[in-house]
Amino acid sequence: MRIGQSTDIHRLVEGRKLILGGVEIPSDLGLLGHSDADALTHAVAEAVLGALALGDLGHWFPDTDPKWEGADSQIILREVARMMDEKGYRIGNADALIMIEKPKMAPHIEQMRRNLAASLGCDISRISVKATRGEGLGFVGRREGVQAFAAVLLEEKE
Ligand code: MG
Repeated sequence: MRIGQSTDIHRLVEGRKLILGGVEIPSDLGLLGHSDADALTHAVAEAVLGALALGDLGHWFPDTDPKWEGADSQIILREVARMMDEKGYRIGNADALIMIEKPKMAPHIEQMRRNLAASLGCDISRISVKATRGEGLGFVGRREGVQAFAAVLLEEKE
């Protein structure tokens, strides 16, 4: 077995979509970034890369590459899952946390889990997504940005 962890931060701005875990969430502010800026999916993808000791997400998917401009981050996660498969591993489980002041994530958590599980090629029971507010404190609480954390355990395929 191998473990990996990661975090990702994106700025909240007007005029952008809020996409987390592949779910477009109605919001007055959205996430700024080169791709769709899905901080949750980026954290999960980079945690998998970490477990494989394959470096960070920016190494494989540079924000200078026009290929990834506005890209659906599920494509990035599927690519990382392909690398994991090639190395002989599969998802044991993943646990992720989104820090966002508002809107409420609860109505969207199940769909995020479904999307992440589909991209990683595993059962939804292996994917946990949680959310917490910033309680008005720090950049999360001031709605300047969103931070996501992820930890994954990979199992060697027999
Ligand atoms: Mg990112």
